Amino acid sequence: MVMQWIDTHTHLFSENFKSDIDKVVEECLERNIQPLLLPNIDSESVESLEKLTDNYPGICLPMMGLHPTSVNAGFREELRNIYALLKARPERYVAVGEIGTDLYWDKTFEREMDIAFREQIRWALEFDKPIVIHSRDSLDWNIEIVKEIKQKEPNLKGVFHCFNGTIEQAKEIGEMGFYMGIGGVITFKNAGVDKTLAEVPMDFLVMETDAPFLAPVPYRGQRNSSEYIPLIAQKLAEIKDLPLSEVSRITTENAKSLFQI
Ligand SMILES: [Zn+2]
Repeated sequence: MVMQWIDTHTHLFSENFKSDIDKVVEECLERNIQPLLLPNIDSESVESLEKLTDNYPGICLPMMGLHPTSVNAGFREELRNIYALLKARPERYVAVGEIGTDLYWDKTFEREMDIAFREQIRWALEFDKPIVIHSRDSLDWNIEIVKEIKQKEPNLKGVFHCFNGTIEQAKEIGEMGFYMGIGGVITFKNAGVDKTLAEVPMDFLVMETDAPFLAPVPYRGQRNSSEYIPLIAQKLAEIKDLPLSEVSRITTENAKSLFQI
């Protein structure tokens, strides 16, 4: 049987793929890397997100949400726009994403990020969708927010995308029944996340690329693409001392169960 891979986080609708997106998707289908889950960024990315989704129904599956780095002074209007899209066709979107907080670039809108994150978690509960969480220099903060809401709303589910945390953080995430998205960072030397993952059960892991960012070795620094999922999986297989087929089977089942696909 051909191994199936699900890229749970890929921005194939971005400018970087404008010239060869059809080739990239064809390549993914050939390697049985599908479906491809597309996290939205903000109002400006919606058009290309929807277009790609319409071009590849059942293969490119969109999410709807406002990315924390797009949370600024105008965030209330942005939230209204994004919510209207979600409410109009909730069945179209596999998740509310990507949402969360980011303290790496700019701390100016810390308060607004907190408000926007919590608001979008409420939407996920309203439409019974998982959340796809972006963290950068803010993983503890995000875990705290999710934990607080999860105590009152046990149905809340989702994934901490691009997981790059400690064993303690991985434990907290697992205890909440949340997943961790594993991407190209695990192939980087000295990233340290390999030691953490050695201790994390496979039950909590899903595959992702975060294309066009964070390409795995040997493509580090170049454009990342969903086609590289097997390279990331190969590294995970080494870390977990499992056959590649097992990594495929388990992570694909995890993704299907989380996103109801
Ligand atoms: Zn992303």
